[in-house]
Formats: sequence, structure tokens, C-alpha cells
Amino acid sequence: MKITKTFSFDMAHMLDNHDGKCKNLHGHTYKLEVEISGDLIIGGAKDGMVIDFADLKSIVKKLVVEPFDHAFIYHTESGRERQIAAMLEGWGLKTLPMAKRTTAENMAQYMFELLRREGRLNVSALRLWETPTSYCECSL
Ligand SMILES: [Zn+2]
Repeated sequence: MKITKTFSFDMAHMLDNHDGKCKNLHGHTYKLEVEISGDLIIGGAKDGMVIDFADLKSIVKKLVVEPFDHAFIYHTESGRERQIAAMLEGWGLKTLPMAKRTTAENMAQYMFELLRREGRLNVSALRLWETPTSYCECSL
């Protein structure tokens, strides 16, 4: 059985060294779909569920939505992105470092692994929509 919950967050980023307009600082409203696979729980308060939607929501909010929403996400290997982040942090504004370039693909993989490892969720697929017509899927 599979269940999916959808989330949304806004963030700013840039792709340093990109050969198009994505090299500029810009933002997106991302849509995130987290699919969980598992057998139905039998008995108790969660009888008949793969996972309680409320529990899934609180884990994804804590690990992904809260740190990413309205933040500048930057690639720690990029000197330019680090400089912007340092300026924002100096003003007490929200940033989040990433070890890889902040493409939808890299962010989806990061979220997929984080939710499986730290969230202890049996995520079978994760779809990250960067625009209403473009998404990346990470799956088992
Ligand atoms: Zn972008």
C-alpha cells in the first residue's frame, strides 16, 4: 500500500556557473510529494493505516519544510553563494547550506535520504516540483 502527502515551501537559490538565467539569484514555490510504502497497521490507534497522515506531516515539516521555507539555500563549494549567505546571516536572515549544487535533483535526493535516515520513514518515492511543469523524482 502506498500513501502520499503533499507540501509546499518557498526558497531562494542560484546555480553558480549555470549557462542560463538560473545563475541569477531567484526563487521558486516548490511542491513536495512524499510517498510512503508499507503494510497496513493492524490493531491499536493506527489500525488500517500505512502511517498516520498527521505523523507524516509533522516529520516532513520538521526535517524539510521548516528549514527550507523562506531560506536562501546555498552550495557550500561556491564562493559567491557563500558570500551571499554570510551577508544574509550577518543580518540575521535565514540560510541553509547544502554540500551539493542546489538543483531540484540534488535537493530531492537530499530530502529523500534525510527523511529515510533521520525521519525513519519508509519513503518509496519523493517528487520535488520546482515549477508547475517541472519535477524531479527520487525513488527506491
Ligand atoms: Zn531555480
